[in-house]
Amino acid sequence: MPQTTDKQALLRKLPAVDRLLKAPAVRRLETEIPHPLLLEACQRVVDRLRQEILRDQALPADLAAGPDAVAERAAILARQLHQPSLRPVINATGTLLHTNLGRSPLCRAALEAVTAVSRGYSNLEFDLASGERGHRYSHVEDLLCRLTGAEAATVVNNNAGAVLLALTTLARGKEAIVSRGEMVEIGGAFRIPDVMAAGGVILREVGTTNKTHLRDYRQAIGERTGLLLKVHTSNYRIVGFHAEVAAAELVELGREHGLPVIEDLGSGMLIDLSNFGLPREPTVRESVAAGLDLVTFSGDKLLGGPQAGLIVGRREAVEKVRRHPMARALRIDKMTLAALEATLRLYLDRERLLRENPVLRLLQMTPRTLADRCRRLAKRMQALGERAEISVVRTTARVGGGALPLTELPGYALAVRPRSASVTALNRRLRQGRPPVVGRVQEDRLLFDLRTVLPGEDRRLLQALTDAFDNL
Ligand SMILES: *Cc1c(COP(=O)(O)O)cnc(C)c1O
Repeated sequence: MPQTTDKQALLRKLPAVDRLLKAPAVRRLETEIPHPLLLEACQRVVDRLRQEILRDQALPADLAAGPDAVAERAAILARQLHQPSLRPVINATGTLLHTNLGRSPLCRAALEAVTAVSRGYSNLEFDLASGERGHRYSHVEDLLCRLTGAEAATVVNNNAGAVLLALTTLARGKEAIVSRGEMVEIGGAFRIPDVMAAGGVILREVGTTNKTHLRDYRQAIGERTGLLLKVHTSNYRIVGFHAEVAAAELVELGREHGLPVIEDLGSGMLIDLSNFGLPREPTVRESVAAGLDLVTFSGDKLLGGPQAGLIVGRREAVEKVRRHPMARALRIDKMTLAALEATLRLYLDRERLLRENPVLRLLQMTPRTLADRCRRLAKRMQALGERAEISVVRTTARVGGGALPLTELPGYALAVRPRSASVTALNRRLRQGRPPVVGRVQEDRLLFDLRTVLPGEDRRLLQALTDAFDNL
């Protein structure tokens, strides 16, 4: 059978892995890339070529081009295997708190604190005044109390953990009463009913989707009731014929029956954002003032810090939470704690906060600044000439991360329409670039919303775009 013979003749042309390892393009990488990765890259390239021969019954182009081309392919793969998996990305999606892109960037003070604290040892759980064992939460507790008016505070790994811990500590084996209008699902499988089940708490829904009254809660209170829960409907809004019960009223009802009342605030805000033209949202301080036993919120949403779950409230409840065995399983590490303390400290100085907190900076960008940046970039992209059609378009950015779902932040984006390639191909190239750029596809063009491109990143965005067109 001549075909089989042909195939074997082709397969004999495959380079041996040992030989490929010694090819100059691969050998050059020896000082930089560990040997096992070089070996794996060579093996994978030879395997791929073998599969291509078996599939196509023909000599693959790289093999036909000679040994250097094959070695070059192995070198490219080796570099890919060697680069860090988790790496910086330019977020041009226009979503400020993009969970898939790491939510909030950190302020400089937070970055410096992380480096300083984790480079060597620290007083993480050591009281420098007494020389005795301290506790890690002490580094942020006073700050959180000062910023929210709470009696006590603690922190865990994230807000999902904070809600779970609060529920299980105060109501395990009992019922938690929640409004039907607050059965939130946050992306990534966080659903209030499921979190309750995981914490061994029995869900007792009251009211209807659009209206829940105080009497609904009151009628549901019985022997098995463990607590009353209020949940911020972060990522959706019920508009129209709607009623919910205010935290202060729930607190009063709880007091009458000796029941704790807690609130999951979701994003949580330490300052009133209505000064930025955003809708008025209750601040954490207001929830605390309503008398709630515990209030939980996220560190990496509008707060603009690292991933963390902040828990503030009345001393007795906070101490119970802290002593619960699950608190140990959800504890936050020193790097996060360092970043969180620095992030919170900025809130003591409003001017510095507005200048340095990354989320607040992005929120404050005016459409005019964004338009100027877009135009400057567009001008510098004229060099792409016949390969792309570049324009500046109006867009609206979003807060994201399940916060302020109806808020549209007007701004501008750079719109790029490739002339001889597809938008999908350009998008893919950009995702594989250095740094990767994530934009937004809109019909036959790619939009780069400058609101989420950090102020120092314009030049890198330009470079990434130019590189992408060069490799298209
Ligand atoms: C985001 C959110 C959570 C989860 O917080 P993470 O910090 O992501 O764990 C829980 N509840 C509400 C209402 C939220 O908006």
